[in-house]
Amino acid sequence: MSGNQNQPSIVWLRNDLRLADNPALTAAASEGRPLVVVYIHDETGDGIRPLGAASKWWLHHSLTALDAALQNLGGQLTLRHGPAAQVLPALVDELGAASVHWNRRYTAARDIDAGLKTSLREQGLTVESHQGNLLNEPWHIRNGQGEPYKVFTPYWRAAQDRPVRDALPAPTEGELSWPADSPASDDLADWDLLPTRPDWAEGLRETWTPGEDGAHARLESFVAERLADYHRRDEPAVDATSGLSPHLRFGEISPTQIWNRLRGNGSGAGNDSDSGSGNGSADVPAAARKNVAKFLSEIGWREFSTALLFDNPRLATDSYRPAYNAFPWGYTVDQLGAVDEPAGVSEVDAWRRGRTGIPLVDAGMRELWHTGTMHNRVRMVVASFLIKNLLIDWRAGEQWFWDTLVDADEASNPANWQWVAGSGADAAPYFRVFNPVLQQKKFDPTGDYVSYWIPELGTDAYPEPIVDLAETRREALEAYTAVKAAA
Ligand code: FAD
Repeated sequence: MSGNQNQPSIVWLRNDLRLADNPALTAAASEGRPLVVVYIHDETGDGIRPLGAASKWWLHHSLTALDAALQNLGGQLTLRHGPAAQVLPALVDELGAASVHWNRRYTAARDIDAGLKTSLREQGLTVESHQGNLLNEPWHIRNGQGEPYKVFTPYWRAAQDRPVRDALPAPTEGELSWPADSPASDDLADWDLLPTRPDWAEGLRETWTPGEDGAHARLESFVAERLADYHRRDEPAVDATSGLSPHLRFGEISPTQIWNRLRGNGSGAGNDSDSGSGNGSADVPAAARKNVAKFLSEIGWREFSTALLFDNPRLATDSYRPAYNAFPWGYTVDQLGAVDEPAGVSEVDAWRRGRTGIPLVDAGMRELWHTGTMHNRVRMVVASFLIKNLLIDWRAGEQWFWDTLVDADEASNPANWQWVAGSGADAAPYFRVFNPVLQQKKFDPTGDYVSYWIPELGTDAYPEPIVDLAETRREALEAYTAVKAAA
C-alpha cells in the first residue's frame, strides 16, 4: 500500500446501491483507509441516458435508504452532481484520495469509466473496477468462435458451466473507518427527483420499498410465499413472481446474492433443482424447489440482455437485425411527441393512457401508470399491440416504458422491445402477433386482472376498440414482407 494511510479511498457507487455483496466497497474497506462513498448524479456525460421519471422516484428513495445504512455504520453517503468525468477527478483532488473503486457497468457509459481509470492511474492512484452487478462478465460467455451468443439457450448453458462466487457479507462498523471531516454533500432534495405537481407517485409508494432492506424482504417473501407458484408466472392475477426487477436494476440486491440464496455457491443452474444441494437451497420450501431453475433462468435473461447491450451499445436506437430498418412504420419515433407531452397521434395517446378499448392492453398500461411496473406477460401483449396492431415504431414504446417503469433498464428494456418487434436477438418470429383477446382468455380466464384495473369495464364509460385486431394483424404481416425483402 502506498502513500499516507490517512488518504481516503473513494467508493463510487452507480447501479449498486447496497452494502452487502458489494465488491468495490469490500475492496476499498480492505485498504483500511478512511472511506468516502459517493454517488454522482450525472445526466450530462456522453453515453449517459437521463433517467425516466419513475426511475428518479426510485433513485431518491434508494439513496435515502443507503445513506441511512451508512450512517448506522458511522459514515455517510456523499452526493455530487455533474459529468462524472469531471466530478470524480475533482473529488479526488479535494480529498487527496489514494484509491478509487467501482463495480463495472455495461452501457456506453463504460467509456467514461475507462477514461477515468487511465487518467487517475496516471496520477498515481490505485483504481480498480470490480464485478458486482452480473453473475458473469459478458466477455466470459462466448461461443466456440469467441463471439457473442445470439440465442439465449446456448448462452445460458455456457453461463451455467461457470461457478458462482460466494456473496460477500456487508461490512460491519468495526471494519470501516471514516474521514475526520465528512466531505461536503449535495442535498438530495435539490436534485428534484420526486414528482411534485402533480404528485403521481402514490401508487409507487403503496407498491414498493426501495433500498437494500426492501430488496431482501422481497426476496425472502418470494421464496417463502410465491416461488412455489412460479409455474403460474404467466397469469397476471396470480402473485407468483419475485418483484425484484427494480431492486436488481438499482443494485440493491445482486444476482450473486439471489443465486447463493437459492442454490448455494459453486453450483450451476443446471443442477437438479429439487436435489436440495448447495448452501442456500435447504432453506427453500420443498414445494418451491421445482421452480428454482426456471426462476434463475429469468435472471439469466437479464444477464443475456446485458451482454447484448455490452456488444451492441446502440440497442435502444438501432435494430439488432438491420433488415428491420426497412419496416414501414405508420409512425416512427421521431414523428411522435416526447414522453412528457401528448404524442399527437390519438392511438398512441390511447395506448399510453390505457384507453384502447382492448381490456388486457388497457389493464396493463394502467397497472404501469399506477405502480411503475407491469406483469411480464402483459408487457409482451401491450408491446405487440403497439408495434403490430398500431404499426408504431418499437422505439416509441421503449421510451414510454423507460419513463414509466421503476425497473427501466438500459439493457432489458430495449432487448425485450426488440424481442417483441422481431428485430432482436433470439426474438419472437415476426409473424407472432399476440392476440390480446386470446391472451386474456388464456392467462386471465377469470377476468380478475382486467376488472381490477378497469372498473368501468362493461359500462358505456369504457371505449370501443380503437382498431380491428384481425385487420391490423393482416396489415402487420404485409408490412413485414418489406423486412423479408431486405433480409
Ligand atoms: P421475475 O419473474 O421474478 O424474474 C426475476 C428477475 O429476472 C427479474 O426481476 C428480472 O431482473 C429478470 N427478468 C425476468 N424476465 C426477464 C426478461 N424477459 N428480460 C430480462 N430480465 C428478465 N425487465 C427489466 O428488469 N427492466 C425493463 O426495463 C424491462 N422491460 C421490458 C420490456 C418489455 C416490452 C418486456 C416484454 C419485458 C421487459 N422486462 C424488463 C422483463 C420482465 O418483464 C421484467 O423483468 C419482469 O416482469 C419483472 O418482474 P419480476 O421481478 O417479478 O420478474
